[in-house]
Amino acid sequence: MVGARRASGRVAPAEGSRAGGRVGCAQGRRLAPLAASLAAAGCPGINRRLIPCPLLFMLRSRDALRAGAAPPPRRTASQGAGVLRRFMNHRVPAHKRYQPTEYEHAANCATHALWIIPSILGSSNLYFLSDDDWETISAWIYGLGLCGLFVVSTVFHTISWKKRHLRMVERCLHMFDRMVIYFFIAASYAPWLNLRELGPWASHMRWLVWIMASVGTVYVFFFHERYKLVELLCYVIMGFFPALVILSMPNTEGIWELMTGGVFYCLGMVFFKSDGRIPFAHAIWHLFVAFGAGTHYYAIWRYLYLPSTLQTKVSK
Ligand SMILES: [Zn+2]
Repeated sequence: MVGARRASGRVAPAEGSRAGGRVGCAQGRRLAPLAASLAAAGCPGINRRLIPCPLLFMLRSRDALRAGAAPPPRRTASQGAGVLRRFMNHRVPAHKRYQPTEYEHAANCATHALWIIPSILGSSNLYFLSDDDWETISAWIYGLGLCGLFVVSTVFHTISWKKRHLRMVERCLHMFDRMVIYFFIAASYAPWLNLRELGPWASHMRWLVWIMASVGTVYVFFFHERYKLVELLCYVIMGFFPALVILSMPNTEGIWELMTGGVFYCLGMVFFKSDGRIPFAHAIWHLFVAFGAGTHYYAIWRYLYLPSTLQTKVSK
């Protein structure tokens, strides 16, 4: 029986304690004097039954090595490229999904959960600053897009981390996480398109962004994860096409902030495609999204809603 346990190399803690307590096995007999001397050396609280457990483990490991068991594998030079490597799994082929490490899962959840409360407060602020119907509607649309992005992303990453066995739920949430990006982009443009004066052609962009978001959603529904490059291209088109209209507006206040936000999103996309190459790549992408969204929020608040700019608002 003892031999069988030794061969398996694993002993449950309770079993180990019992073995040490009874001092029935060879190791236990060897360790009994040590336990006695420790107790005699002024450690009256020491439970003799428990002392041998870690020592038993060390002795078993030593015995296993003597018996010819293979030593633990050493890191090769390429593996050692990183201490950071332990925080990241290997890259997967294009048709598969990257599996984050536990550390990456936690970072993915935290980097978007952190922004849920600020986005709710920020959206409420825009709502209370609204002084006509269009501003109220735009505040609602933008607020729902902003909060929706962080909430859906956090829920998806949490389920993906803690309830991965719920495959169908996780897959649906992953699709939802990708769909909400399209609506977030459309919602980010909505205040500018609704509250600023636009040319006769440019004004069509007010509804065109929502058509684009809907097409993107349908694409995700049918081709989720199938053509990843096409998916990325859709986000880029959706992100930049309405910007052409924004840049053509007579009132250019806030353009620099909008462009800065766009740069954050573009830089973030480098990390979006770097799972398995850069540790915490997806969490870094999340941070770039948060910086981009924060910059755009500032521009919307500053140039479209702040009371001091009310006089300069164009009547709609
Ligand atoms: Zn994410």
